[in-house]
Amino acid sequence: MQKDAEIIDFTEITPLADIAAKRHGARAKCLQRLIRMDLPVPRTVALSFDAVHRIAKGNVPDIAALLALFGDGPLVSVRPSSENQEWGGPASILNIGLNDARHAALCETHGEVAANALYLRFIQAFAVHVARLDPDMFEAEAPSARALRAALDAYAEETDEPFPQDPGRQLLEVLRSMARAWEGTTARLLRQAKGAPAEAGLGLVVQAMALGIGPGESGSGVIQFVDGVTGLRRIVGRYLAHSQGRDAIAVREGALFIIRDPRGGSLEDRCPEVVAQLRRYGDTCRINLREEMQIDFTIEAGRLWVLDAMRVPRSARAAVRIAVMLADEGIIPREDALCRIEPRAVSELLHSQVDPAGRRQAIAHGIAASPGAATGRLVFGSAAAQASAARGEPCILVRRETTPEDIRGMHAAVGVMTERGGVTSHAAVIARGLGVPCVVGISDMRLNRRDGVLITADGRKLHEGDIVTLDGTRGQVLLGEVKMLEPALDDAFQALMRWAEEACDIGVRANADTPADAQMARRFGADGIGLCRTEHMFFEADRLTVMHEMIFADRPEDRASVLARLLPMQRADFKRLFEIMQGLPVCIRLFDPPLHEFLPQSREGVRDLAEAMGLPISDVQRRVQALFEFNPMLGMRGVRLGITIPEIYDMQARAIFEATIEASRKGEPVVPEIMIPLVSAMREVDLVKTRIDSLAAAVRTERGVDFAYRLGVMVETPRAALRAGDIAQHAAFLSFGTNDLTQMTYGLSRDDAGRFMGSYVKQGVFAEDPFHILDAEGVGELLRIGAERGREARPEITLSICGEHGGNAESIAFCRAAGFDYVSCSPFRVPVARLAAAQLALGKQVHAD
Ligand code: PEP
Ligand code: MG
Repeated sequence: MQKDAEIIDFTEITPLADIAAKRHGARAKCLQRLIRMDLPVPRTVALSFDAVHRIAKGNVPDIAALLALFGDGPLVSVRPSSENQEWGGPASILNIGLNDARHAALCETHGEVAANALYLRFIQAFAVHVARLDPDMFEAEAPSARALRAALDAYAEETDEPFPQDPGRQLLEVLRSMARAWEGTTARLLRQAKGAPAEAGLGLVVQAMALGIGPGESGSGVIQFVDGVTGLRRIVGRYLAHSQGRDAIAVREGALFIIRDPRGGSLEDRCPEVVAQLRRYGDTCRINLREEMQIDFTIEAGRLWVLDAMRVPRSARAAVRIAVMLADEGIIPREDALCRIEPRAVSELLHSQVDPAGRRQAIAHGIAASPGAATGRLVFGSAAAQASAARGEPCILVRRETTPEDIRGMHAAVGVMTERGGVTSHAAVIARGLGVPCVVGISDMRLNRRDGVLITADGRKLHEGDIVTLDGTRGQVLLGEVKMLEPALDDAFQALMRWAEEACDIGVRANADTPADAQMARRFGADGIGLCRTEHMFFEADRLTVMHEMIFADRPEDRASVLARLLPMQRADFKRLFEIMQGLPVCIRLFDPPLHEFLPQSREGVRDLAEAMGLPISDVQRRVQALFEFNPMLGMRGVRLGITIPEIYDMQARAIFEATIEASRKGEPVVPEIMIPLVSAMREVDLVKTRIDSLAAAVRTERGVDFAYRLGVMVETPRAALRAGDIAQHAAFLSFGTNDLTQMTYGLSRDDAGRFMGSYVKQGVFAEDPFHILDAEGVGELLRIGAERGREARPEITLSICGEHGGNAESIAFCRAAGFDYVSCSPFRVPVARLAAAQLALGKQVHAD
């Protein structure tokens, strides 16, 4: 029935009523669909967002007319109905309309025990949620005449008036209090945290009560047809005789399983025809609502009622399986299945996760730098991490920040946490590559290595050997061991990824430095390697020393001898990468070692190096001092090293070409891509290109074999972006390194930003951490300029992005719009990027993740 819009409208939900989720909320719309499918839904009336908003403002609906829809002596419930079920809403209130007279009548028809239980439940809910009295005074007591009297007395005492007896007044007050609760600040902040817009509306549904307490088979329950954690098809739920609402799940004691179960009694044993009916309703919902639904039902004196249905709450892995199952059954198209999964949820499938249903006690917080979770014993150094791994004990490595000397420790650890750093700091980049959880910039903890303690903000002292769980997905350190969910690269995940690949219209490559990374990249379906950071190939213990020797060699003959040892290592590295990638493109970046990352930091490091080089410690120390740079991230890095000491790049180019010849012999012809880092001027490219071209000619002649290669430039300084037109003349491709580009555009150290990023974001100085979410305005403008100028100078040039932003949905949207050919990200981000790219190709809007 539609009331005069001047007053306050309410609409009985019938198959043809004008009900829309945007105006009445998802619950109201879903109820209408259930009614259209002929499910036995008790009579229901919907109040629109506008009506509820006006009730909050003090307007009064025609309550008598509303109640009249429910017949004589109506008993009703009121439930919230927001546009998105996840945004929540005020608690439902049942049994409105119960008063002393109705209670007396119910004693006759339903028995005193049932009447007391129904009335008491209403009084308790009204007192706590409407009159806002202290919940402790109305704690759920076993229903009895005495408990009922006590509740009525407590109400009268606290409010100075008897419990309201008029059903109209009861209903009005319930509606008003729910409407006002929604408009309160706490509720608004809560739903905004769940992604609701500030002005999101609330609808309400008023429904005739089906009494689950009373004579005959009466009770209530909840049923769903898939497992909310795994997504596998199975009936889950509970039924509790003589109960209402969600008591079957909340109370549990005495609750029955829905279908036969060795653990206890079931509704199927008791009422097989009801369970058969529920199964049919599940099928009807799946087919017509194109979704797996959770159904709230009540049995009233043997008769089944469906009160409500909502999407089954689900874990990321269940979401994937459900979407794939629905598509496989032809219920939804594959495109829909792809668009139903949040790209970020895919990343949860690739790693262990803290079970959301388990208990968690967070003791420190930082930046979520590498997703997944792991439990282990705390260790404060690399040696301890290795010792722990050798004992077979999983460990979490804690450092102030990490350096290449920690690599062994990082390999040995199941998780890494650092006091300093941001999302592109050393620890973060390496951990993401290794696929281990990592939290950086944990400013609310202090590591005191000398005393061997880690002190948290609340003064708690943790020692080496104490057990913690690192949640790299949420950026938290949790006390002790917690329940975990294992990774799930199952058939459903594989199917989704195949469909995503088909839908995708931009390439997705992986940043991969080692054969293990490359294998991971293949496993996750990358289109190639977009960035191989060759200096990372020297992080292994034995290699690191050779790298040190190369950096330390200051006489040409010493350098030549180290490079001669490096050549076969690099050749073997590249050959292996080419073999694993089987003809897919591999982009190798020439050395870009920020020196501070490669200088020995500790006394042992200096001693090891002195030993390896056969030099006195004092010589090594002197050389370390000579190489000291005030700002190593802007010092002798990348192409600057290549120009100053060209033999290094010569060696790498030779290794690449020789590996190309060898790998092409067995498999697909390899066309390597060679990338020059940290370029800022065309002349740099010119110089390097001339040497590399002549090296290629030399190798061709020596080996008598021809091969092709592509030479490109990493655009990661603002000047390179601005001068991309010149640079493109010598480059087959431009790959934008947004880590350094962000650092240099903002003048913001990527290793130190973590110290203030939290407070900058909190105060809205930056909307997001620009190292995490691409700054489309500033850094993005440089990307656009670079891409345009590069394309103009050389229309066939390949454009890509290879900074850590590469895997984020909004960077991918940006790159698609700017006409880039591919994005490259860490192997574990490839599936996330692939899905995000597919969704963009299918026209879905992206949200920051
Ligand atoms: C970059 O700067 O974006 C990049 C990918 O290189 P790196 O992180 O190795 O400096
Ligand atoms: Mg860089």
